[in-house]
Amino acid sequence: MKQYDALVIGGGPAGITAAMYLARSACSVLLCEQLTPGGQILMTDTLENYPGYPKGIKGYELADLFSAHLDGLPVERATGAVDSVTGEAGNFVARCDKQEYGCKTVLVCTGARHRTLGLDREATLLGRGVSYCALCDGNFFRGQAVAVVGGGNSALEEALYLAKLAGKVYLIHRRDAFRGAKILLDRLNGTDNVVMILDTVVAKLHGETELTGLTLRNVHSGEERPLAVEGLFVYVGFEPATGFLPAVLERDARGFILTDTEMRTNIPGIFAAGDIRSKLCRQAITAAGDGATAAQAAFIFLEQF
Ligand code: NAP
Repeated sequence: MKQYDALVIGGGPAGITAAMYLARSACSVLLCEQLTPGGQILMTDTLENYPGYPKGIKGYELADLFSAHLDGLPVERATGAVDSVTGEAGNFVARCDKQEYGCKTVLVCTGARHRTLGLDREATLLGRGVSYCALCDGNFFRGQAVAVVGGGNSALEEALYLAKLAGKVYLIHRRDAFRGAKILLDRLNGTDNVVMILDTVVAKLHGETELTGLTLRNVHSGEERPLAVEGLFVYVGFEPATGFLPAVLERDARGFILTDTEMRTNIPGIFAAGDIRSKLCRQAITAAGDGATAAQAAFIFLEQF
């Protein structure tokens, strides 16, 4: 079994930053990434709030730059999902794509996956009108009517993106106030083909093999009405994927990993960074910051071995 000082799980901004810092400190590093490096920024059209890019930068461009930052550094990469982490500090074993890897410390940077609405046939209609990625699927709905559900930054940003492609965008939110940034809301209010439907939830999906519309329900009156749309983009937040980690790892009520300010978890030798952590602010920049802190803490931790 191949041995490393550090195993970094997840190749988003947190994981790439952590791997970069550890490699620069002469630690041997394995970076396991399920898909392509970049994490959620790959699903973002343009990042407007990443310092250094005053005109914004495309998500895929930033992801490429992050990944390129590891070129030339002694970071080994493995592609696949990590199924389990067992053992203890100095002697962890992780399984990734049927291979076992030994490591002294583990940095969990796996981010979070999108939450679903939990509606009947939501899974069946996935890719047939229902989507969780406007950047991936928006192009299929050129000139058509689509709905976006959610009131956070993701919903607002993606509604703006879709407004450039779709004929009409209905932004459906369960309250009358948005939690996303005001600058985005102002832009949406100034966009002709965006219609906001507030205090409303999606109660039903219509269509057997393709989405043909929705039933909307007003949360106060309970009144229901149909809305004809070809596409539904769901942006109702994210949930962590931590099932592969030891049960004794402390999580908050929503399942996000609890850490101290140095990204240490309650298990010595396991650190967590980025969106997988229990915290207020989930941004590419804070994920990268967490990754740097976790790497520094892991480096100090490794000195005992
Ligand atoms: P979020 O901030 O957690 O917002 C989720 C939204 O979905 C909330 O408005 C919530 O309503 C609504 N919601 C939750 N469950 C629902 C349900 N079952 N039915 C209908 N609506 C539901 O999630 P997010 O927008 O994906 O953002 C996640 C994190 O990434 C945030 O920290 C966000 O700031 C960050 N982010 C930042 C940027 C940026 O800075 N450019 C871009 C994207 C994301 P309530 O408001 O009523 O709870």
